[in-house]
Amino acid sequence: MQRACLYSSCATKAPAINSHQISRKQLDNLAVDGELVTCKPIEGKLIADKKYYLFRRPSPKKALAFKGYCSVCDNSVFKNADDTSTAFSSVKAIEQSARSVSYLLNEERITYRAVIDARKKIGLVGDELGSWRPAILGLKNETVVDEWKYLKKSYFAYISLYFDANANANGSSNVWLATREVEDINLKIGFAFSSTIYLTADFWGKPVSVPWKGKDTLPPLATFMLLKYQGKWHLALTSHSIYSKQAIQFWNQVLSVPEDELLFQLFRFSTYANMGTVISPNFLSMFEKQCPRELKLIESHGEWQSNIAKPFNWQILQPVPKLGTLRLV
Ligand SMILES: [Zn+2]
Repeated sequence: MQRACLYSSCATKAPAINSHQISRKQLDNLAVDGELVTCKPIEGKLIADKKYYLFRRPSPKKALAFKGYCSVCDNSVFKNADDTSTAFSSVKAIEQSARSVSYLLNEERITYRAVIDARKKIGLVGDELGSWRPAILGLKNETVVDEWKYLKKSYFAYISLYFDANANANGSSNVWLATREVEDINLKIGFAFSSTIYLTADFWGKPVSVPWKGKDTLPPLATFMLLKYQGKWHLALTSHSIYSKQAIQFWNQVLSVPEDELLFQLFRFSTYANMGTVISPNFLSMFEKQCPRELKLIESHGEWQSNIAKPFNWQILQPVPKLGTLRLV
């Protein structure tokens, strides 16, 4: 199906092409023999075999690809985020946030369409109350159709928030942003991520109280990323400034993880957030060999599981595997 370009000031109005949620250069950097690993459960297999299949092995061309922007906009509005040869900057983090929210919008459009169609078949769509997704705590009394309308509008609002922040010449914006350079002491980082998450849960998966008044306010979204620019890794978190308190809490949790546990915890969180993680096949093999038990836990406690089952508190997992040392500078 053809999709219009998501950029609100698009001049071409041309159909969207395949974009990569994380830029192609970052993906190629992690690929081995033309293969990468992403985290998307194969739900049919999960139900039929009662086994976990979190990891898929697409080519860099197909990994985290989605129809979001026309070719002109895709090359212009993300040109800073896509340029891995220049130093990391807040402009790059903000462009990347816009792209991650666009990816979320696209993924959720597919999911909500499927849920709405399935409910239509059994005549439930009009009167079904309550969110089908526990993360949407602010929308308890909405129908699924209303919930999707609200979310779609909100995701577009976040995309505009990020584009406007970069376009605003005097620098004032409603974006909250934090970044740190990551020194990879043992050169073990073999994955990258950029995921738009709900701040209704903290870094450890515990619920957080958020002043989210349903349809009257934007949902508490944040975009969390680990990306490589000019050969150096960077962590960043962005959010709307109305949720800066929750974003700061999340960020401080990340900063307080011990240096020799951070690699595991970032990997664990990114696969849990399950939106935009790309893993080098070599890193996954190392993980499989060194800590098979933890990998099984990760596979069985992804977000897709917590939506239908119980959340898992990752702080109880002690000790955690020491995969390498990361120092935040
Ligand atoms: Zn366009």
